[in-house]
Amino acid sequence: MEKKSKIYVAGHRGMVGSALVRALEKQGFTNLVTRTSSELDLRDQQAVARFFAEEQPDYVFLAAAKVGGILANNTYRAEFLYDNLMMEANVIHQAYVQGVKKLLFLGSSCIYPKLAPQPLREDALLTGLLEPTNEPYAIAKIAGIKLCEAYRDQYGCNFISVMPTNLYGYGDNYDLQGSHVLPALIRKFHEAKVEGKPQVEVWGTGSPKREFLFADDLADACLHLMENYNERELVNIGSGEDLSIRELVSLVATVIGYEGEVKWNTDKPDGTPRKLMDVSKLHGLGWKHTIELPEGIQLAYQDFLQHYEQYAL
Ligand code: GDP
Repeated sequence: MEKKSKIYVAGHRGMVGSALVRALEKQGFTNLVTRTSSELDLRDQQAVARFFAEEQPDYVFLAAAKVGGILANNTYRAEFLYDNLMMEANVIHQAYVQGVKKLLFLGSSCIYPKLAPQPLREDALLTGLLEPTNEPYAIAKIAGIKLCEAYRDQYGCNFISVMPTNLYGYGDNYDLQGSHVLPALIRKFHEAKVEGKPQVEVWGTGSPKREFLFADDLADACLHLMENYNERELVNIGSGEDLSIRELVSLVATVIGYEGEVKWNTDKPDGTPRKLMDVSKLHGLGWKHTIELPEGIQLAYQDFLQHYEQYAL
């Protein structure tokens, strides 16, 4: 990418998209194109076609998606499938039609089979059944990978796919019904501390294991791959380290300074037992994460505090 290349970041208001914009600006890219979802509904085929014809971007980061935690994924199953399929199909097809030089598609670690060997290697894709709680989202993301592969195979498009692990960071979703575990724990422990509550309820058994990556690290990895990777095969992006939800709960409680009791609500689902990425390919391509989990939780907590009024509404 040249510093003046026209770069479209789809989903720039989201946690990942905004981290991508920060990373691009920091590296001196000056010609960024963005649209909010009210300016451009990426599910609308005609609107996306008009936008690409007008703007003709050179590069595309496809970070727009309907995302959420285990409850949201499991509840809004039709929306997670339909919205994500439409956004991906429209953006990827128009990137082909308008001759975009390169596109980077962001998937998710939930594309891998529920019981795939850990750590999850890129070639585990489509070797077994998916985790039921997020199957619609996973199917949509697998379709996005296959679109990138198919447009490369048939039309020679340089479209690459990356699979981030569980992410957290600035501007995360702190709505307790829709969020992922880490922002949910930050909010729950903070509120319990402020209100002096003796007990906090968390979900599941605490035994599932998860890996976490700070969104600004992810953005940095995406820029690295946009500059240095041109192959058909997907690339995992993670830290390569995981911990149990029980350990995560202790860590977040410590960072926030909550000393009360934790109650496990086992009526809520555990989800997939483990989701650790094999990041040897990414490391081989010369990239490694820099923000460790305790530091990242601190940074996310500071951001939460700064914007707490907005989350509390
Ligand atoms: P997943 O990685 O797709 O399963 O999504 P989540 O980040 O939503 O959940 C990860 C794990 O954390 C699951 O085992 C949840 O049951 C558990 N968990 C514990 N407490 C919470 C909570 O308050 N919110 C969420 N979203 N998950 C929680």
